[in-house]
Formats: sequence, C-alpha cells, structure tokens
Amino acid sequence: MNILLVNPPNSGKSIPEEAYGVTSIKQIFKGEPFSLEVIAGALSGHDVMILDMKCEQEDALWDTVTDFRPQVIGFTAVTCEANTVLRYAREIRGQIDCLMVVGGNHATCDPSYFNRSEIDYIVIGVGKKSFSELIGHLQKGDRKSAIPGIAKTSTGSSLSYLSRDYGPDDLMDHCPPRYDLVERYREHYVLEKLGMKIGFVITAHGCTHVCSFCTIPGTTRERYLVHSTDSVIRDITLLDTIPFIRMVDANTFGNPAASENLCRKIKELGIRKRFIADVRADTIVRHYDLLKEWKEAGLHAVVVGFEDIQDRRIEGYNKKYKARVIPRSIELLHELNMLIVGDFIVPPDYTEDDFAELESFIAANGIQVPVLSVLTPIPGTPLYEAMKDRIVIRDLDYYTFTNAVVPTTLPEKVFYETFSGLVNRLQGRAATTTTKDGA
Ligand code: SF4
Repeated sequence: MNILLVNPPNSGKSIPEEAYGVTSIKQIFKGEPFSLEVIAGALSGHDVMILDMKCEQEDALWDTVTDFRPQVIGFTAVTCEANTVLRYAREIRGQIDCLMVVGGNHATCDPSYFNRSEIDYIVIGVGKKSFSELIGHLQKGDRKSAIPGIAKTSTGSSLSYLSRDYGPDDLMDHCPPRYDLVERYREHYVLEKLGMKIGFVITAHGCTHVCSFCTIPGTTRERYLVHSTDSVIRDITLLDTIPFIRMVDANTFGNPAASENLCRKIKELGIRKRFIADVRADTIVRHYDLLKEWKEAGLHAVVVGFEDIQDRRIEGYNKKYKARVIPRSIELLHELNMLIVGDFIVPPDYTEDDFAELESFIAANGIQVPVLSVLTPIPGTPLYEAMKDRIVIRDLDYYTFTNAVVPTTLPEKVFYETFSGLVNRLQGRAATTTTKDGA
C-alpha cells in the first residue's frame, strides 16, 4: 500500500499577540517527526513516505497527495495541531479517495475529538504495532475487525473501541525507526545554539509517574516500557553522522538498571556522542552515580521538569517530591558540569511576587536554559478534569502552552507582559551562559 505519514506544520494562536501585540512568546515545535519514523519502521513491504510540514511549504502536501496517490494517510498531532489536521483531512478528502488515520498525543488523550467524518481511524497510545496491524487488515480489505488501541470513527455515535494492554511487544524492538525517510529534512533538525545536527532516539515509553498535567502516562496506560539495550544501540549507530542524540523518552532514567546497562554498553563500544535526556529532579538526587556514569558516556545536557518551587503547587501537580529536592538536584548537576534545561510551569493564578520569586530562584541556582510555559489543561489529563469548569477558551488552537485558557489572577494584560518580560530576560541570560566544556 502507499502510506503517507504527515507531521503537521507549527500551529496555534496566541492571545498575547492578538490582544496585546506581545509576539515574543510563541511556541515553536522543532525536531524530527520521530513518532512517524517509528511507526514507519513497522511497515515493511509498503511504500511509505513522511512529509514534515514543519519544514515544507503548504503546497507540498497537495503536490505529494497528487503524485504519491496514498491509499492511507496517517497524521500525528499534539493538541494545538488537532484542528490543522482536521482541516487537512477535510481538504484531502475532497480531492482523492483514501483512508485518513490520526494518532499521536491528542488522539491518545481525547480520541473522541477526532470522531468526525474527515477521519476513518484513530490510533490511541503507543501505535507502532497497532497501526501496523491496522494496515495489515486494510490490505486484506478488512475494515471491520476490531484492533485493540484502534478506534473506527462513527460520526453521530459515541466512540467505542477495545483498550490495548500495552506491553514490550508493542515496541517491536526488531524494527528500527525509518530515519532514511526524513533524510531530506536533516539540515532542519539542528541544535539552534550550536548549529549542529541532532537526531532522536528513544529508550523507553510512558512514565513511572502520573503528574496531573502530563499526557505521557496515557500513552501506555501508565506502564513504563523499556526498549532493549541492543535496539537502542542499533538506533544510535544508525545516526552515525549526527553528533547530538536527544533521547526523547519523557523520563529517560525511569528504570535505573536498564539505563545503567545502556550506559555501560555505550562506553564499552566507544560510542562518542553528546546525549540530551529528560530526567526527574528526584532521580538526580537518588541516582547521582548513574548520572555520573552517563556524564562519562557523553550525557551533555538534561531537561528537568522542575515545574514549580513551592510545595503547594508541586503537590498539586502530583510530582511526588518536595520543593527542597530541586536545589539539591541542581547542585549535583553543577558538580557534574551538566547543562541544565529547566522547565517551569506558570499557572494562571501567578502574582507579580510569584514571577519575581521564580526569576530570583533561576538566577540564584544558575539554571542555564530555563523554559517557561503557561499551565494548560490538556483534555484527557487529571488536570483537565480538575479545571474544566473554569475553562473559558475551548478552541484547541490556543492550547500551545503560552496561553491561559482559564482566567488569570493578574489582569490578563499584566500577566502576559510580566510573563513575556521574564521569558525575554531569561533568554537573554541563557544566550550568554555555557557549561565549562562549551555549549
Ligand atoms: S511530567 Fe515527567 S515525570 Fe511527570 S508524568 Fe510526565 S513524563 Fe512522567
């Protein structure tokens, strides 16, 4: 079958820009469409193409659809891209006869959103195996059999589907990602600050925790699934010309024994790469020796979701550690001379004092690359359930993590101006900060 996999363009709307002319805090998503490369890996025997609309002009979609004549088009989408994908599907449906499938983050969190006539199937959660099963059925002309983790749309009725009991088999370790399908975009996938190429590898899916705002636990129904060491090494090796490897797991060191094995293997094989990984603050404190080993293996930067510095909010997010863990984890990362990308969430009830306290904390603790986002209740998360009655903006185009979709405590204009002022100052500071070994 001809299967076209589409990564939508950067999408979304900005309240601060539309209402107050504040243009500096738009969120731009970058990086290769790795989930599509992973899905494509399990589709041997088919003619598969990936179109990354974050790197293409709008015309490319229509040209590709006309030339390639796909029988199936698979879209991925985060929440703020959901409407763009629906628009694409609607417009393509008017042009050619093909099946439309959507998967990814928003399809997993809120599958019913895509229960519309533009879409035929919805892939829920980790989709490598379930999507390949769907393609197998479609090739045989079977559009009816139920596949766990795949919902067939039925406009006008509520969505019903079999849940999938995700396990290691779903990772299909024997099928590597199809990096070759995005080779023509590779020059776009760079670390902006250094202008160096970066490639993605995944070592585990899901998470060991269930933070209230996070969409990751739902992708595996709260299981933590680890790839075999050999398959991760194979994938790193496939990216042999790429100096930086971003491990795109949401929580890379969730299984310390598996991480240690991987680290030792990297050292044993003499693999020379710079790695970037996501790690929890409490993991850094509990498993400092593991981080130290990884530093020796090339771990260059860590992305840490600190989220907040006050116990009350950290507890509300269900992070499962106390605020005092955060400065300790930072201290340890500095000892390792690790570049720290620190994620913080700005909730709509932030006051000017909260903004000032956060800025002082970031400066005092030397977090080199702080990243701020506005608290966003993504449908399907526990946070959404808790906040849904207060939501005043339901258009998903605004769910970009830079808009407050519930009323702010500060006057809205002051909230966005203070937020953008802080973001700009932090970015200015980050531009002049490096680790001791550069970058
Ligand atoms: S925020 Fe991080 S630690 Fe929490 S559930 Fe998501 S991935 Fe896991």
